[in-house]
Amino acid sequence: MIKSKIGWTDSTHNFWEGCHKVSAGCKFCYMHRIQDGKKIDPNVVVKFDGFRKPLKWEGQKLIFTCSMSDFFIEEADEWRPEAWEIISLTPQHTWLILTKRPERIKDCLPPDWGNGYPNVWLGVSVEDNKSLHRLETMGEIPAKLRFVSAEPLLETVDFMKVLDGNRPIDKFEWIIIGGESGNDYGKHKYRECRERWIYDTLKPLYELGKYIFVKQVGAFVAKNDPKQIIGQDQHGSVKRFWHESIQIHRPKTH
Ligand code: SF4
Repeated sequence: MIKSKIGWTDSTHNFWEGCHKVSAGCKFCYMHRIQDGKKIDPNVVVKFDGFRKPLKWEGQKLIFTCSMSDFFIEEADEWRPEAWEIISLTPQHTWLILTKRPERIKDCLPPDWGNGYPNVWLGVSVEDNKSLHRLETMGEIPAKLRFVSAEPLLETVDFMKVLDGNRPIDKFEWIIIGGESGNDYGKHKYRECRERWIYDTLKPLYELGKYIFVKQVGAFVAKNDPKQIIGQDQHGSVKRFWHESIQIHRPKTH
């Protein structure tokens, strides 16, 4: 089991690795950065050797799956039924599935999905206002819990927006948000993310009573306003200067 450095989960498990870019949020994808460093082609999707390992994991974990891919990517269609089998055989764990391809979910669910497996939370990435339509698509899928990852945040996002007469965010309980990580050299850089964008995006969500998790302010603030993050890492994974109302908050798993 890989204990995760990602603040909003306990562990990660990749059934497969590799992915191709689909939108602005992918520009400096960390999986591409990692695989490039290992001289592995990040665009090629390969099944992971330890595919069935979670069957042996003990305790109750929050498991983020496919941190190095997209669970609903086309190339994994052949392997996904086996992944669903493992997920359904491990009801003691809560599986987090985050995607930028919500339009594929409907055709990729297992036959016994019903109103959603009780141990699966479905999440969708929204990095800018242009990608808000993904909320609407995801909102049509039955799920025990739906969440949003607004990272890397590329502008202030209006999650209160009404689309087709409905407010899609109403079907989501948990919002994860953060600026982009990266560095100043090579081709894997980072883009601007202002603290103000994070605050303005979150304020109405907080007032709605959503669970909120501020993962990091991102490398831009870390570099340009380092007094904010003294003693923290280069991505600004900082909790202490945020108001306690928007520090770590996540739904209960069991
Ligand atoms: S969908 Fe996710 S894993 Fe795939 S390229 Fe984009 S950011 Fe990377």
